[in-house]
Amino acid sequence: MKGVFTGTRGILWGPESKVQRCLARTRRGTPCQRPAEINPLTGKRKRCRFHGGLAGCRTAEGKARIGAANTKHGRFTKAAKEKRKAELEVKRDALATRRMELAYLQAEGMRLKRELARERRPAELVPNRNRPLVVSPVKLDD
Ligand SMILES: [Zn+2]
Repeated sequence: MKGVFTGTRGILWGPESKVQRCLARTRRGTPCQRPAEINPLTGKRKRCRFHGGLAGCRTAEGKARIGAANTKHGRFTKAAKEKRKAELEVKRDALATRRMELAYLQAEGMRLKRELARERRPAELVPNRNRPLVVSPVKLDD
C-alpha cells in the first residue's frame, strides 16, 4: 500500500477504503466515490464537499432577508395560502347550505304540487290506504 494515506481512521482513498461514500449521481451517471463529509448545517454525514450543496444562511435575520429578496408579490406565502384556503372553506360551506336549502324547497314544491293535484281530483280517485281496494270485474265478452 505505498502512497495510500493510512491514518488513524484507516485507508481514506481507494477501493479498499471502508469510509462512507458520497454516492451522489455524477455527470457520468455513476455514483460519486468521494468520502462523505459531515455537513455543518445538518450535522449528518451524507455527501462529499462537492455534492453537499450550499451552506446557505443560518441566522433568522439572514433567512428573512433572503425570503424578502425572493418574494415578488406574496401570493404564495404560507399566510396567503392559508387565507385563501379559509375563504374557500367558507364559500364551500355557504354553497353546501344553499344546496340543502334548494333541495328542501324542491321537495316542498313537489309536496305542494301533489297536494294541489289531490285537492283537484274527485274524492274517490284519491289514493287512501285505509280504504279497501275494490276492483271492478272486467268483462271479456266484448
Ligand atoms: Zn460526491
